[in-house]
Amino acid sequence: MINEIRAKRHAETARYFRAALQLSLLALLFAFLASCAANPVTGKDELMLVSEEDEIKIGNSVYRDALWSAEGGGGEYQDAQLKRYLEGVVMRLHKKSHRPNLPLTFSVQNSSVPNAWAIPGHVVMTRGLIAGLENEGEFAYVMGHEVGHISAKHSAKQMSQKMMLGLALGIAAVAVGGDDYGEAVVGLGALGGQLLLLKYSRDDELEADRLGVAYMSRLGYDPNNALSAHRNLDKVFKEYARSVGQEPGERTFFEELLSTHPRTSVRIDEMQQMISSTPRSAMSGDGSSRATYQSLTANMRRTHRVYMEYYDKAARAFEKNRIAEANNYINRAITEDRTQPPFYALAGFIYLKQNNHGDAERYFRAALSLQGTYQPAVRGLGMMNYRKQNYAASIDYMKQAVQTFPGDVTAQRLLGLSYYRTGNYRAAINPLETVAQASPKNKTIHGILGQCYENINDQKSAYEHYKLQVQSAADNDVGRLASARVKEWKPRFEPEQIKKK
Ligand SMILES: [Zn+2]
Repeated sequence: MINEIRAKRHAETARYFRAALQLSLLALLFAFLASCAANPVTGKDELMLVSEEDEIKIGNSVYRDALWSAEGGGGEYQDAQLKRYLEGVVMRLHKKSHRPNLPLTFSVQNSSVPNAWAIPGHVVMTRGLIAGLENEGEFAYVMGHEVGHISAKHSAKQMSQKMMLGLALGIAAVAVGGDDYGEAVVGLGALGGQLLLLKYSRDDELEADRLGVAYMSRLGYDPNNALSAHRNLDKVFKEYARSVGQEPGERTFFEELLSTHPRTSVRIDEMQQMISSTPRSAMSGDGSSRATYQSLTANMRRTHRVYMEYYDKAARAFEKNRIAEANNYINRAITEDRTQPPFYALAGFIYLKQNNHGDAERYFRAALSLQGTYQPAVRGLGMMNYRKQNYAASIDYMKQAVQTFPGDVTAQRLLGLSYYRTGNYRAAINPLETVAQASPKNKTIHGILGQCYENINDQKSAYEHYKLQVQSAADNDVGRLASARVKEWKPRFEPEQIKKK
């Protein structure tokens, strides 16, 4: 049954799927018993599949993948001072929320896509949205809304439902099936592609709005900032959509983005009512702290313009294989701002694509000198070494790459293949299984997995993968070997099927 559901899911949204995660979530699922628990916000009993402890565990397990692949990806934006400031606001909100003792982290995601999101234990706002908000009061409202989703267990409810369907949240998505270069831009933080698939019902959204207004008011912010936050959210979203130019084939991305931002005009009336019915606390300062917010976000807003004007365009041109254009934009980006690892990493990928390994390496290393673990640069060096058949080096880099971003299917694939090509079949299996589940129609993956299992004397597993290989492609080298094995081993593993004939 699970396999059937999985097959359907692949057919629908193969791109949006990561399987290692799913397996671990399913394993967790079997460990759970459904239980009723009082909702911390409403006080009503609800059917929950996840305990609080497991809720946090699952949140943690998807968090890194979400940072690198949802809402444009990009990982964490590097600005310690900015983070401390915003984190302070979030933690004060959290203390006023309905679940103040839950562990919670805040981070700034290095993506131009204007959005904010929450999974249990973690709330995140993108660079694009921080740059688009006017003041601390607006920021407090949006983060109060996200903390509200966690307080009211909206995410936990989502997880329960999705887990029952075996959907594994659908968060940690990586485009699979493309070539290495299509995949190269994954995680670079500039592309639409994938949105956090935690979609809440309209009722949940309104409840989070209400909680956002309540929490911000308790901290002494003027609740009217909730209205201007919605207007600004709408405004920056439209700016973003215009700046990237909606192209055919990308409609779904924008439709999804829109659907996660319920029409502002509809929500404004309801917000007005919430604001007037929310008990007012004494206002702290002017209730907005515009000057502080503007001054502490000034550097980031300057950098954000460079992302919007040059980097995002370079990444999109690169993705569409317009290399000269990508090159021009990325050079401009680097000229304007020399502090951003993604600029150098993207330049590295552009050189790599042109087979200029010397410059590719130089730029990947420049990115790493700014941020020692910057995942796309680590993966870039891994790709380059794999191509040069330096498998030991490629293994080192890819191990590091999947540690930072486990859902990176390209890194998992090249890690597995490097092990395979050096005869370390046992180590190859784990990463290749991840790829096989994320990309089941890959033309060689099952045959190679079959060989790995065969080499460690697990012929039963080898046989299963050889069969899958024959189904997906029997006419390439791995396919021919797989066919021969299936024929040879069938009497041993499926004697009853042969008798029936
Ligand atoms: Zn929401």
